[in-house]
Amino acid sequence: MDDREELADALRDLAGALRHHRDLGVVEVPLSAAAAAAPPPIDAAKALAAQEAALQGCTLCKLCRSRTNIAFGSGNPRAGLLVVGEGPGEEEDKQGKPFVGRAGQLLTKMLESVGFDRERDAYIANVVKCRPERNRNPEPDEVAACNPFLVAQLDTVRPGVILALGNFAAQTLLGTREGITKLRGRAYEYRSSILVPTFHPAFLLRNPGPEYRRMAWDDLKLAKREFDRLADLKR
Ligand code: URA
Repeated sequence: MDDREELADALRDLAGALRHHRDLGVVEVPLSAAAAAAPPPIDAAKALAAQEAALQGCTLCKLCRSRTNIAFGSGNPRAGLLVVGEGPGEEEDKQGKPFVGRAGQLLTKMLESVGFDRERDAYIANVVKCRPERNRNPEPDEVAACNPFLVAQLDTVRPGVILALGNFAAQTLLGTREGITKLRGRAYEYRSSILVPTFHPAFLLRNPGPEYRRMAWDDLKLAKREFDRLADLKR
C-alpha cells in the first residue's frame, strides 16, 4: 500500500469513528492533550433522554408492580447541582416527575433560599425511580436494581455539587450506614463531585422546628458556596 492509500484508509477509519461517536451523542472532540485525557463531552440532554427511554417498562425490581409512572429525573441536563432524593411519592408517581408534591415545593423554596433556581441550576433525581407502595422505605434489592440508572445520571450531568437529601440518598451514595444527622454538616468528595448531605424536605415537613431548618439551611449555604467556587474555577 502506498502513502496515499494508507492516508485514505486512516481517514476512512477516522470518519467511521466520528460517525459512531456522533450517534452516541458526542457533539465536540477535544483537541488539546489535556482535554483529550478527559472523557469526551456528550450531549447530556440526548443521553438522559436515551436512559429514560431505556428504563420504560423496567421490571428489574418489584416496584414495577405498584408504580403508575417512572419518575426518571427532571431539570437542566447540564446543571452544576444534582439533587438526589429517595423515591417518588404519590404525586411524583402520577406525574412521572421527581419532587412535584409537597416535599418538592419545600425543596424549591430551600434551593431558592440560597440563590439556586431549580430549573436553571439543578437536575433532580431519586435513588429509586418507582414509587414504593404507601411511601415505605425502598428495600436494598430495589436500591441495588436502580443504582446503575442513578450512576448513569450522575455520569451524564457531571455536576460540581450533589445535594443528597435524607438517609437513603446519603447512605447509598456514600456507601455507609451512618445516619443523616451524623453525615450532614460537611462536604465529601464523591467521584468527581462534591457531595453535601442534608435533611430530606419530607423530614422537615414532619419536624417543623427551627433547629432542623437551621441545620438544613447551613448545609444549603455550604452547597451554594461549593457551587460558586467551582463555577469561578471554570471562568
Ligand atoms: N420524596 C423523594 O424522595 N423524592 C420525590 O421525588 C418526592 C418525594
